[in-house]
Amino acid sequence: MVLKDDVLIVEDSAVTGDLLKHYLEQLDYNQVHICTTGKSAVKTFKDLVHKKKQPIVLLDYTLPDMDAHSVFSQILEIKPNVRVILETATEKEDEGIKDLIRLGAFGYLEKPIRFDSVKQIIETLEREQEFFQKESTQIELFKQATQEAQVQIQDHIDFIIKTSKQISTNSICQLIGTSDEFVVSHLKKLENENKIVNIGEKKEIACNQCGSVKITQLFYCPACKSSNFKLGKLIEHYNCGNITEENSYANDVCPNCHKEIKALGVDYRVMTNHYICNNCSEFFPEISTEYLCLKCENKFKLNECGWKSSMYYKSINM
Ligand SMILES: [Zn+2]
Ligand SMILES: [Zn+2]
Ligand SMILES: [Zn+2]
Repeated sequence: MVLKDDVLIVEDSAVTGDLLKHYLEQLDYNQVHICTTGKSAVKTFKDLVHKKKQPIVLLDYTLPDMDAHSVFSQILEIKPNVRVILETATEKEDEGIKDLIRLGAFGYLEKPIRFDSVKQIIETLEREQEFFQKESTQIELFKQATQEAQVQIQDHIDFIIKTSKQISTNSICQLIGTSDEFVVSHLKKLENENKIVNIGEKKEIACNQCGSVKITQLFYCPACKSSNFKLGKLIEHYNCGNITEENSYANDVCPNCHKEIKALGVDYRVMTNHYICNNCSEFFPEISTEYLCLKCENKFKLNECGWKSSMYYKSINM
């Protein structure tokens, strides 16, 4: 029997975590790890990678301590070609989910999670991996692939198009890991069927070292460079000048001067949409960013990036 990869479930609900583990065991995944926070997930992921494992990650979109983007950025930094499947209870039209798919998440599972959807997404992931790992030119491989495998890859392309507002031919090729020829011919077919529309050639950010457009954005705390942060609300107590997270004001009492905060706008104010670093506790209205090439692992800033152009498409009737 072929040994299956480890799976790392990042899920704060114990019930959902156990259910997923149970489903995965039925699919012969016997090395399943469960983490309930973003922080422990990053640590476990790092440990597994150090043990030369290639865990598949099932990442809950909403976690108590960290934003899914932050967890995703941190594990990408550890292993750029990681396979991440999102779990989400929110609408699939959600911009955050789309962003993560665009940054390379393989797909998503809708909550409540069902066994057949777990089975389907894992099998697709395995098949694509097996298919594209083989040597030889990919178009040749594609011709030899079974009908079923071909359909699954085409479905994955359709899925990527559906979850993107617009997407370039270059990005699709790199997300799927296949040749232009195959993608272009499938796009032509979709265009002829009036499912997508060509919106012209555009430039996108590319690696300044290898030219890949499979790029992800990394976010850092400007003070300590940690990627462990969350988006939250802060309260400033005018009297004593204390600025800390909203939840540090238990029972409306300032954690610094121990006096009660009374009237919004008079003795305190709420600062929404601030990034709060879990590492150094500093907070910022903006977070620093850098790009990471998922192909060659080169890191670069926006002003140093290369640009690549290709045809963009938008889905209309999919
Ligand atoms: Zn590169
Ligand atoms: Zn105070
Ligand atoms: Zn920090």
